[in-house]
Amino acid sequence: MIPQPNPAPDQNSPALPPLRHPRWLTVVLSLLLISMAGLTVLATITLRDHARELAEPSLSSDFLVSYQIATEVNLLIDTARAVRAHDNKATELVLRLEVLASLLDPAMDAPRAQALLLEELPQARELLSSLSDLIIPWYAQMQVAFTEQTDRGVAEDILGNAGTLRSLSDRLVSLIHLEQGSMRDLNRQRLHGGFYRLEWTIAGLITGSIVLAVWLLVLNYQSRQFGSRLAHANARLESAVAQRTQELAWLANTDPLTELKNRRAFMEVGEALIMQCRRYPHPLSALLIDIDHFKSINDRYGHHLGDEAIRQVADAMTAALRETDVTGRLGGEEFAVLMPHTDLAAALQAAERVRHAVAQLRIPTPSSTPITLTISIGVAGYEHGMSLDILVMHADLALYRAKHDGRDRIRTYGADIMTSYEAS
Ligand code: GH3
Ligand code: MG
Ligand code: MG
Repeated sequence: MIPQPNPAPDQNSPALPPLRHPRWLTVVLSLLLISMAGLTVLATITLRDHARELAEPSLSSDFLVSYQIATEVNLLIDTARAVRAHDNKATELVLRLEVLASLLDPAMDAPRAQALLLEELPQARELLSSLSDLIIPWYAQMQVAFTEQTDRGVAEDILGNAGTLRSLSDRLVSLIHLEQGSMRDLNRQRLHGGFYRLEWTIAGLITGSIVLAVWLLVLNYQSRQFGSRLAHANARLESAVAQRTQELAWLANTDPLTELKNRRAFMEVGEALIMQCRRYPHPLSALLIDIDHFKSINDRYGHHLGDEAIRQVADAMTAALRETDVTGRLGGEEFAVLMPHTDLAAALQAAERVRHAVAQLRIPTPSSTPITLTISIGVAGYEHGMSLDILVMHADLALYRAKHDGRDRIRTYGADIMTSYEAS
């Protein structure tokens, strides 16, 4: 019987689906990646700009300068008062004037804050220059003539302009204070806008990352599914290949009509048995069996029934023998048997069982009379060193003798058969 397929794993599992994704998805993911890259660049630029802005000098240093000027104006007025009261503070008056002059004169390597003030606040520039117009001449006077009279004159002058000086310096302080407030507001608004955009950018990046992460999870799941299906498909394929190989081996070694070994397989197994006999000596016998007058059965009942007869003879023969006996169909209606661990006497008994079993067969025909058959059997025993061909040839000679002696009988190979063979 042709070997039945082994149950392959997951026979019912669906066919392997292709691991493909729709084109639109690839386009969408590519666009997402490009947008994320764009957003990252945008976020970096925004952050860099704001960081730079925060690092820039602000008006707060201008405010300090203006506050310093106001303080110095007050100190100057106090010092002028002391000079008028003969408090011998002329040197300090010069120092105060010098400090004020240096704070007011932007040309004298003024601090950057002051330069900004002059550039961006024309009113502050005017206030500074009005203060300079008062201070610089006093400073110049004090440098030119350093006498008590000059000191007191300058002090009087300062005190006479104290109101103006205070008003100018106070206006400067409040102007810069106001300007600083409005600039801070402007900066805050700009920063707020920037951070708002940054928030959206980061939200976009987070959303994109989540989408990509989900997609990666889906891909990972799909690839694992695909891998396991691939493994199943491989297992199925391997099983099918093994099954097919088994079938091909069976077909190559088996006679399709009787399902006995064909000549090639019989000779192959026979060679192995002979090798065993040579290595571990034990008896081995061979039978050669031929259906008698088979040609007439074919002629009378047709080939179809002839085939059926051959099949039934094979079955009866197998049933009458041991499982360890090797049976084969050598061709036509001729069979051979190799019986390991069986001497000639036991082989004769087995041959008789076979002959009897075949004689009992009744093969039904369309007419009422069933076919009956007889067989002739030649028996030969293995002798040490003998080849399989010789053993089979001896059995064939014995079969020839059985046919010659009238058929439906068994003959063993012996010296007399050899002689008669040689004589014929
Ligand atoms: P003998 O007693 O001398 O053996 O006579 P026989 O008619 O059996 O003679 P032989 O062995 O020469 O004839 C064998 C016949 O068997 C010839 C052929 O038509 C027939 N035959 C061979 N193979 C098959 C087969 O596969 N199927 C059938 N139906 N007939 C076969
Ligand atoms: Mg025959
Ligand atoms: Mg024959």
